[in-house]
Amino acid sequence: MTTVQEQRTTEELKALAEQAGRDLEDASALEILQWAAETFGKRFCVTSSMEDAVVAHLASRAMPGVDVVFLDTGYHFEETIGTRDAVDAVMDVNVITLTPRQTVAEQDAEYGPRLHDRNPDLCCAMRKVRPLEEGLKNYQAWATGLRRDESPTRANTPVVGWDDKRQKVKISPIARWTQDDVDAYVTEHGVLTNPLLMDGYASVGCAPCTRRVLQGEDARAGRWAGRSKTECGLHG
Ligand code: SF4
Repeated sequence: MTTVQEQRTTEELKALAEQAGRDLEDASALEILQWAAETFGKRFCVTSSMEDAVVAHLASRAMPGVDVVFLDTGYHFEETIGTRDAVDAVMDVNVITLTPRQTVAEQDAEYGPRLHDRNPDLCCAMRKVRPLEEGLKNYQAWATGLRRDESPTRANTPVVGWDDKRQKVKISPIARWTQDDVDAYVTEHGVLTNPLLMDGYASVGCAPCTRRVLQGEDARAGRWAGRSKTECGLHG
């Protein structure tokens, strides 16, 4: 038997996203995720970089057992993998780890070592963008932890929008939050965070492409520092 969700066409999903983006602009993060859970059921997931588990925590309140998708690029800090394992162990979520088609060793053999230094766009395309596209195939909607205050490229992030690249509804329930809002939620609910956040990192990505931030820099200044690249292609 097909569900209501499975009968939706791409045009209907797109219209749903645009309408919800307007209707939910002033809604709380939890209300946005409750709408997502009711609207998409099992065809909805959360993606997490394991910088913190704030969106996963919020989503588990709206939908216990929700799928939390994590991209294991093979280049993560140990602390990030540890955060993923802790989230899996203690939260009411279903962690799904996606991996690229090639291991780092296989990629090095074909493209040469340290592709991330020579061609980070290609490295991200193979280790992040493609696995996410394959992993999201069975979902109609995905949630992210994007925030408008993180960087100028994220300033217009809608709380619910249409992901044209993947033809899916993209939900950013904490788009309107500030870092203070995140910190307050972490404290209030005892949410797991990546230990690197206590060690000078403001945004945590792959180890070779992430550095600590300096005072006054925006949160994403430590990602691909010294390069014009600011996003990995997941959100552009
Ligand atoms: Fe490769 Fe760096 Fe992109 Fe990670 S962030 S996939 S190491 S280029």
